[in-house]
Amino acid sequence: LKSKLSDPSLLTDKAYVAGEWVAADDGGTFEVRNPATGDVLAHVADLGRAETARAIDAAEKAGKEWAARTAKDRAKVLRKWFDLMMEAQDDLGAILTAEMGKPLAEAKGEIAYGASFIEWFAEEAKRVYGETIPGHQPNLRLSVIKQPVGVVGSITPWNFPNAMITRKCAPALAAGCSFVGKPAGETPLSALAIAVLAERAGLPAGLFSIVPSSSSSDIGKEFCENHKVRKLTFTGSTPVGRILLAQAADQVMKCSMELGGNAPFIVFDDADLDAAVDGAIACKFRNNGQTCVCANRIYVQSGIYDAFAERFAQKVSQMKVGDGFDAETDFGPLITEKAVEKVEEHIADARSKGGDVVLGGDRHEKGGTFFQPTIITGATQDMVFAQEETFGPMAPLFKFDTEEEVLGYANDTIFGLAAYFYARDVGRITRVNEGLEYGIVGVNTGIISTEAAPFGGVKQSGLGREGSRHGIEDFLELKYTCLAI
Ligand code: ADP
Repeated sequence: LKSKLSDPSLLTDKAYVAGEWVAADDGGTFEVRNPATGDVLAHVADLGRAETARAIDAAEKAGKEWAARTAKDRAKVLRKWFDLMMEAQDDLGAILTAEMGKPLAEAKGEIAYGASFIEWFAEEAKRVYGETIPGHQPNLRLSVIKQPVGVVGSITPWNFPNAMITRKCAPALAAGCSFVGKPAGETPLSALAIAVLAERAGLPAGLFSIVPSSSSSDIGKEFCENHKVRKLTFTGSTPVGRILLAQAADQVMKCSMELGGNAPFIVFDDADLDAAVDGAIACKFRNNGQTCVCANRIYVQSGIYDAFAERFAQKVSQMKVGDGFDAETDFGPLITEKAVEKVEEHIADARSKGGDVVLGGDRHEKGGTFFQPTIITGATQDMVFAQEETFGPMAPLFKFDTEEEVLGYANDTIFGLAAYFYARDVGRITRVNEGLEYGIVGVNTGIISTEAAPFGGVKQSGLGREGSRHGIEDFLELKYTCLAI
């Protein structure tokens, strides 16, 4: 991998703790592998609670000075970090593809997306306005200021090794907080590369630490039990989110949770069919189906079901599975063997209940964790993917007749992150948009992510929002002051 980089110093196997590049106290390391080849890319420092506690101590100290600086001053440092990240886009993309598997163009796209949060929140830092409130007695003056919550602990997944971190650390640091991040065990190299650039951008020592670890539950416990940590921000599965929320309850810790989804993608009879097919492909197969906003259930109205299924299958069949470094590749490998088994289970379940596999359905001849893009027609609500995220390249097509019926199906889940639909009738668009119990709705588009909009879910998909002017609020506390004169 080093030979692919114009700046090999972005690649490191040391952890970044309290402003220093360190090995684990006990010298332990864990392996990071390329999911496309199985090659070992690095042996990364495997940290535990002690090192994490040191990162938290340093974050507390550095955070106080950082918060005392002007917002404009903080913004300047963040802006520099953004610039460095964009200058290193190609290298960061290559590191990301190597450890995660997504096609290089998609990886570079993620770097730009990830960096955009740093740019955005550098700007937002300057707009953390307070308020004054007319007093409730003649001699009282009421005001509200916003202050940083303090030390933030962060736990992030492997599917967006860069952007899931920047989406959290950028608003935290912009608000005046400090940050200790535990990246996913599969993808620590992208996180550490972000830290290399943080140091170069001039983030004060200790303000931003990255603590890679193979024992994520230990780090989670340190975050939840260490009284210096004031906020936990997590992106990952709903089961782990529940564990962390329960742990955080002991300290009544502020929490942001970006958890699982089970996105419905609905195509009505009056939709533009070609646009709906393209939107469904982009939405379902982005990152090989491994995003929490990927379409998990595709509902197509009976009048266009067959035409949609045919065009969808025809287009998907032309897409290429391969190594992310191959310029022709549309779909990389899945992240792990476990991920492949989950897709297989969902396909087997659908087959046993009468689903028809019209494309793919099996592991790919390339071996490893490569999987054929798969389409299943005749999907029904009793199949397991109606309730559970597949997180892989498998698209089930459900048939429905009425608007009311499909809204019922769409909302029949504990999740409420993203939903999508294609329609033209303005009355229908308004009704369905309002009826969907989701935090994000894409209408006539399958791609919704941008740093300018609030990303987050309702129901068991999470708490809080990331991005937009709302994203910084999750890292601020309100202080109301009652002044008697
Ligand atoms: P995914 O299926 O995307 O890996 P997880 O929720 O398992 O989702 O993992 C997301 C992040 O949470 C990863 O960084 C992982 O290491 C971490 N994690 C998993 N289990 C725990 C736990 N019990 N406590 C703290 N962090 C955890």
